[in-house]
Amino acid sequence: MSNIDQLRNKIDEITIEMLRLLKERTEVSKQIGELKKNSGLSVFDEKREEQLRTEVSQICKQIGLDESIGKKFLNFLLNESVKVQSDGKQTHLTIFLKAKTLEQQGKKIIHMEVGEPDFMPDPIVKSALAEAYDKGLVRYGPAQGMPKLREALAQYCTKKFGANIKTENILVSPGGRFSVFLAISTLLNPGDEIIVIEPAWPAYRDCAANAGVKVRTIATTLENNWDPSISEIESTVNSNTKMIVLNYPNNPTGKVLSPKLQDQIIELAKRHDLYVLSDEIYSEYAFSEWNSVLASNYPKAIVIQSFSKSHAMTGLRIGYTITDPKIIEKMVKLQALCITNVAEPVQYAALKALESDVTQNAKMVKSKINILVQEAEKMGLRFVSPDGAMYLFAKIDRPGFDGLEFTNRLLDHGVAVAPGDGFGSYKGFIRISACQDEGSLKKGMMILHEVLEE
Ligand code: PMP
Repeated sequence: MSNIDQLRNKIDEITIEMLRLLKERTEVSKQIGELKKNSGLSVFDEKREEQLRTEVSQICKQIGLDESIGKKFLNFLLNESVKVQSDGKQTHLTIFLKAKTLEQQGKKIIHMEVGEPDFMPDPIVKSALAEAYDKGLVRYGPAQGMPKLREALAQYCTKKFGANIKTENILVSPGGRFSVFLAISTLLNPGDEIIVIEPAWPAYRDCAANAGVKVRTIATTLENNWDPSISEIESTVNSNTKMIVLNYPNNPTGKVLSPKLQDQIIELAKRHDLYVLSDEIYSEYAFSEWNSVLASNYPKAIVIQSFSKSHAMTGLRIGYTITDPKIIEKMVKLQALCITNVAEPVQYAALKALESDVTQNAKMVKSKINILVQEAEKMGLRFVSPDGAMYLFAKIDRPGFDGLEFTNRLLDHGVAVAPGDGFGSYKGFIRISACQDEGSLKKGMMILHEVLEE
């Protein structure tokens, strides 16, 4: 046998042995998952991961393996563990789907679990859709978006966000969710790390997992006013860290970062050459001083915007990304591959929607949040008064309170809210959406109180 054949045999043997070990590891991971489930523990355990990460660093040094590769390999294994242990996990979507099934059976449900404005888009949108048909805007178009819409968005953003935005900085996508998916899938590689400040909208974690990217969580607390710790972020960054996600006003807490803290995070990102993915889709609903990340002029900032919340256009599926043309170039390739382009009539409706006055929407959302705050205060829930967005994230101070069990029980009484668990390790919390009329919000909160007192 020649030398190369011998070596090939050896490499095959090692690979097969690694697969056997992977299978064995997966079985052990499943067993740990069962034990976690039975004792009500979260799938995620940052402390344990950190211990293993430290051990991997030491071993890499000892055996002379590139530490960055060793940690990437560890990230792959940790993501696999999360996958097998998350099987069958319930989230706020599970509650939403269960609520829909109950409705089909004729039950009345007050929907305080989803983030969807309960008011209609401006009538301008209706006429624009008809106009689009008459104008023959029913064809394929450029993947990046209609030039007229991108031009209008560039002007709109320049005026709104204190930055000089050009047409080439805009990518039109079918909703903020797809923009997040595009950014994470195209800018990051398997084994890379992304920092997510929790509680967080679950799609960042899910998109990362889908791309083989490891999420490093910065957990924030109600007691600490939902402020992330800069030193914790700093100590989490390593050679595999490529992106940090910001979402202010925040879903689910309604938090807005102080301009000083936001600037510190951006400075940190610049120092470590990280992308900043800033999901600003609740910016119209910011009720305290709020600045767009765009104002920092950081070329690695990727800002996500959407017509879903600001213009109540959730079902039209349209949003946009504002970033450097080099980043857009990568994102647009995947968008073209997936969807060709956003539907032309919808883009035309968005163009017209920019002319509508949405300040009334913000007033409505604010007054709905105020109702939730008043009712939650009356019943003694613990929360930080939201600075924006459309939610109240409340802690239920009852021994052994389990958000998932409670939200399922509450649903049987006709009220849907989201369990805190869907947003990170927040089992003792629920997220209440302010997306109903005043009467329903008050009734929903009353039923919630009754079920809590049961
Ligand atoms: N980002 C956040 C923080 C959200 O809460 C949501 C929707 N719940 C989205 C993005 C997605 O919005 P879109 O409808 O634009 O996809």
